[in-house]
Parts: sequence; structure tokens; C-alpha cells
Amino acid sequence: MRVVIVGGGAGGLELATKLGRKLGRGKKAEIVLVDHKPVHIWKPLLHEVASGSLDAAVDAVSYRAHAHLNGYMFKLGRLEQINSEDKSIQLAAIKEKSGEEILPVRFIKFDYLVVAIGSVSNDFGVEGVSEFCHFLDSHSQAVDFHERLVNNFIRLNQQLENNPEKRLHIAIVGGGATGVELSAELLRAREWFSTYGLKNVRSEHLEISLIEAGPRVLPALSESISESVIKELTRRGVRVWVNTQISEAKENTLLTNDGNSIAADTLVWAAGIKAPEFLKLTAGIETNNANQIIVTPTLQTQQHPTIFAMGDCAGLEITEASGAKKWVPPRAQSAHQMASQISSNIIRLVNNKKPAAFSYRDYGSLVSLSDYTAFGRLMGGIGGGSLNVQGRIARFTYVSLYRLHQSAIHGYLRTALLMISDKLNRFLRPRLKLH
Ligand SMILES: Cc1cc2nc3c(=O)[nH]c(=O)nc-3n(C[C@H](O)[C@H](O)[C@H](O)COP(=O)(O)OP(=O)(O)OC[C@H]3O[C@@H](n4cnc5c(N)ncnc54)[C@H](O)[C@@H]3O)c2cc1C
Repeated sequence: MRVVIVGGGAGGLELATKLGRKLGRGKKAEIVLVDHKPVHIWKPLLHEVASGSLDAAVDAVSYRAHAHLNGYMFKLGRLEQINSEDKSIQLAAIKEKSGEEILPVRFIKFDYLVVAIGSVSNDFGVEGVSEFCHFLDSHSQAVDFHERLVNNFIRLNQQLENNPEKRLHIAIVGGGATGVELSAELLRAREWFSTYGLKNVRSEHLEISLIEAGPRVLPALSESISESVIKELTRRGVRVWVNTQISEAKENTLLTNDGNSIAADTLVWAAGIKAPEFLKLTAGIETNNANQIIVTPTLQTQQHPTIFAMGDCAGLEITEASGAKKWVPPRAQSAHQMASQISSNIIRLVNNKKPAAFSYRDYGSLVSLSDYTAFGRLMGGIGGGSLNVQGRIARFTYVSLYRLHQSAIHGYLRTALLMISDKLNRFLRPRLKLH
């Protein structure tokens, strides 16, 4: 029996680890993980990679080494087609930068398939966005952004010698968690750049604009948290625009619906997500408006129960206590919970038992403003209500989410060792990646 998991992200890598340990090691099933990148970086860290406060080379997990330790097999490749009828997937050929082929197009047969390929930014069809804006969908995009940031700071430092009025302006579209967290990380990076030798750069030389189409940032959190975040960002120098919809992006300029234009050296688009486009073209698989694969409560597709989907690329509609319908939100905690359910369902199927229904539990949302502070809402307190948190408690809980992911993929002992090595690295390595 072969279980193929495509996408080794927040959810897929946790699932491959669980199934590898439970089925792969005992040869009860062959567990194959496919990803188009050789290393895993937990996606909620990408804004830290972009600002340079996290060195991806240190935190990345090599799939091949991880597979060897956890009883599954890793295959490098980009999923380009799912053939649901003959139960196989097609992976694109892999080529070197020079164009020379490393691996040809390949087909992998499966008994069970789990699609866990995450999401990409949604440009909502706004002209010029894909051409002129940066995105933070992948490790390589975050690294590209960081390289540009370093180069821009070096250039700015030089330009300030002759022109003290010179400013570097970064405009971020999207006032959700990604936009807010990136703004704060950039503020922090600015401080470290001047510490590390770019002596002409001072706080006021980096301008950041955070642009949101809705009436407030962080719509998933309460109004009071949204106000506190705006206050904190504004106090530190971020210009927050609300009720501002972008109608077009041009080189170094954003045009708004009400006829304004915002000029900036770097444009970032973080205004919502959708599942990859090709999913909606896959025969026999039903998708929703965000291209997510629609799944039943057991996280299987209606038409092909041997195909599961999870995380950002899965569309599962649930009914809230109020009776309102909503999709399970695209978050790391959803992917984490779905990984546990699919692992248990596949083990049940292998043992000729019926799969069980997934029940989503919202533990709350947290947003970190770099190491300045954090804000959030935790669910399930006394009486089952929610609790607004901020400051150290919120920051500690935020960091714990990553530690939970690490313990799911490395186990408790390795996670404890990684925590010690992170502490040591704070002394041994620069606080900002400078190249
Ligand atoms: C900057 C940022 C901050 C965030 N902060 C938070 C947060 O604080 N809390 C929270 O809950 N959520 C946060 N999120 C959202 C969270 O990261 C996602 O909801 C979560 O990662 C989804 O997990 P996933 O397993 O579905 O997909 P991902 O983690 O995105 O993994 C998808 C995997 O599939 C691979 N892949 C993609 N396409 C293919 C293909 N065609 N073939 C093969 N492999 C493929 C990718 O390489 C990747 O490894 C944040 C997201 C971003 C971008």
C-alpha cells in the first residue's frame, strides 16, 4: 500500500512524520512525501526570513534527512496533474538553471493521496500586481525580498551622504497578519542595519506604509486589538491606510480606487490567498471560489474517497454555534489539526475501519509585532469564552506555536535541543542576516 502526500508544509510534513513513524517504519505502508523544494521552512516564519531576523539556512529542515529519520521516502518534484481515475500523480520535469534536465516528467501511483500544497497570494486580478509586487508565498520569495532589502539599505546609506532628505519607502498591501507582522519586522531590521555599520541610516529614513481595503487591520481579531495594533505601529512610524483599495500596481507606484497614487521603492502584496490555480482544472475534483479542493467532514473528496486534501488548499465548510456557515480558516493551526485527523483516518482505513469526521477547534489568533510586543485572542478559557492577550504572554504563546510544530516533526528531545541552540545562536550570530 502506498500513501503519497504532496506538499511538506505546516500540515504535510507533520502528516508524513506521523504516518512514517506509525506505518512506514513497520513496513505496513510505503509513505512518500513530494515537495517541489528540497527544504521545509514553517510558512509563518517567512516575514522573519524576509526582514533578515531569521536565517532560513539555520531553521530549514532538509526533507531527505528528515525522511531518513522518520520512516518515509522523499521525492523532489512539482505536482502538475492529478489523475484521479488511474490513481496517479504527474510531477513536472526538474531542470538546472542552464536548462539541462535533472529528472524527466514522472508518474507516481497511489492507494491514498493527500494534497497539502498550501496557497499562493491572491492578486484578485488587479493589474500589474504579479509584475511589480513582491509576495511572501515561499522561502525563495522571502529570500529574494531580503536580498533587495539589504541592497536598498546599502544604497540608502551611501545616498544619505549627499542627500540627507533621501528616504527608503516600502508599501505593503494587506492589513492581515502577514502585512502587520512584516511591517513590525522591518521596523526592527532598520534598527539592526544602523547597528551593523550603516551609520547614516536612522529610524526616520525608512518609511513603511500598510494599506488595507477594509475599515480596519486584522479583521479576524477584535476591534480593540485592531486599534491597539494601529496605535503601536503608528507610534513606531508606520503609516496605516484603511479603506484604501488598490486598483493598479505600476513600477514603484500603487494607484488607489479614489485616484491617489502611492510611490514606494518596494511594493509587497499580502492581501489574501487562494489555492493554486491548476487544482480547479483537475478533472473529477470539485473546488470552491478560492480554488480549494472541497472535502467532506472526513477530509476526503466526495468523488474520490482515496484522495484527501488538507490545510490552505482544502475547502471544508463548517457550521458555527450561531448557525452561520464558514470555511475552516487557512491557518497553521487548521493544517496542524487536519494532519492529525488524516493520519488517524488513513490508519483506520489501513485497518479496515471507517474514517472519522474532523472537528475544527479554534484556539484563537495571535499577531506578533517583532520582539516589541504581540497581541491576540485565546479561545477556550474559563467558561469556553475568549481572552484578549498582549505583551509577553501573547509573545510567549506565539513562539510556542512554532515549538509545537517543531515537536510534531522532530520530537520533544530534538525540539529542546533546538531551543538551546537558538539561545546560543543569539550570542554567536548577528541578530540580522546581512547578506
Ligand atoms: C508571512 C506569513 C505569516 C503567517 N503567520 C501565521 C500565523 O501566525 N498563524 C497561523 O496560524 N498561520 C499563519 N500563516 C498562514 C500559515 O502559514 C498557513 O495557513 C499554513 O502554512 C498552511 O499550511 P499548509 O500545510 O496547508 O501549506 P504550506 O505550509 O504553505 O505548505 C505547502 C507546501 O506545499 C509545497 N508545494 C506547493 N505547491 C506544490 C506543488 N505544485 N508540488 C509540490 N509541492 C508543492 C510547498 O513547497 C510547501 O512546502 C502565515 C502565512 C504567512 C505567509
